[in-house]
Amino acid sequence: MPTVAQGPGIGEVTTVTGGLHWLEDSSEGRKPPPGLAFPFEVAYLDSGVTYAKLIEGAQNLGIKRLGRGELLLAATAAEIREVDVGGALVLDGKRWRVTGIVPDSIASGYEAIAGGAPPVGWGELYVLAESKDRRAWHRWVRRVLGPGEPFRIRAKGETPFLRYADGVTPQMYFKQRFGEFAARVVSGGRIEVDERWRRANIVKTRIPLVGKVTCHRKFVVQVRKGLKAIAEAGAANGIRPEEFAGCYSARFIGSDPSGRLSSHAWGAAVDLNAGSNPFGSEPTMDARIVRLLKEEGLNWGGDWLVPDGMHFEWAKIPTDFSR
Ligand SMILES: [Zn+2]
Repeated sequence: MPTVAQGPGIGEVTTVTGGLHWLEDSSEGRKPPPGLAFPFEVAYLDSGVTYAKLIEGAQNLGIKRLGRGELLLAATAAEIREVDVGGALVLDGKRWRVTGIVPDSIASGYEAIAGGAPPVGWGELYVLAESKDRRAWHRWVRRVLGPGEPFRIRAKGETPFLRYADGVTPQMYFKQRFGEFAARVVSGGRIEVDERWRRANIVKTRIPLVGKVTCHRKFVVQVRKGLKAIAEAGAANGIRPEEFAGCYSARFIGSDPSGRLSSHAWGAAVDLNAGSNPFGSEPTMDARIVRLLKEEGLNWGGDWLVPDGMHFEWAKIPTDFSR
């Protein structure tokens, strides 16, 4: 069977697998309360040598020498953790040593990068490759994957981070903006969030055009401004309050516990006109609503590889793929 790596004009190529670990303990800095853990996004590099060649500026940062049980922390993650080089983290029962701190871009927006084989069952995969002919490669990947399988090719400079799901803001920035919570996984793809974080951050309030909402206190300010702008632009009837599907929801994306946490778990996303914009189908959202919420700094799920037309979430760097 042909592989993606055998495509036309392909030079260096390597795969990266991302996913969510639970950080149970730390030798220094922030520790979760007993029985709870911090969600922690990690990327496993198939080859640190090739990764260092393909990611600009990644030479001489220790990536090539990443050994077993060794982690490199992204700078923002190190700051949140209050952990330095030499510190140790326990991720899902396994102890890791922090051997370096690298710029966020070098970690591709993940909280840490690790060498070696990813845990069984992690499915978030992307391929980093050197290619001179983008269109030929696109045709090749389509042939390898078969019709109907969604994929996207991104080149340097087109996106803040070359990574899986590059349309969403990486988790560590949600932590930086909204605070890091500890949690534990419960049934049904849901999590139980540390009560102290929830009480300090999640508020019940009212927003224009929608009504009652439960949301992060910082995010709701942006949503309110966006909805006000929609009303002022005469687009209010484009929002159907009876189709509002919520803001705060402590769960995984698609309630799938093998994936990543939803931005709803931070109370930093809203689902508008859900009935007429279901996940995975062509969005019917009024273009003015999309534009005005983007101007408020939100990302729209309707732009994603598998569209989520109802979904608007906080973005550190708004990324507009419709242009
Ligand atoms: Zn949503």
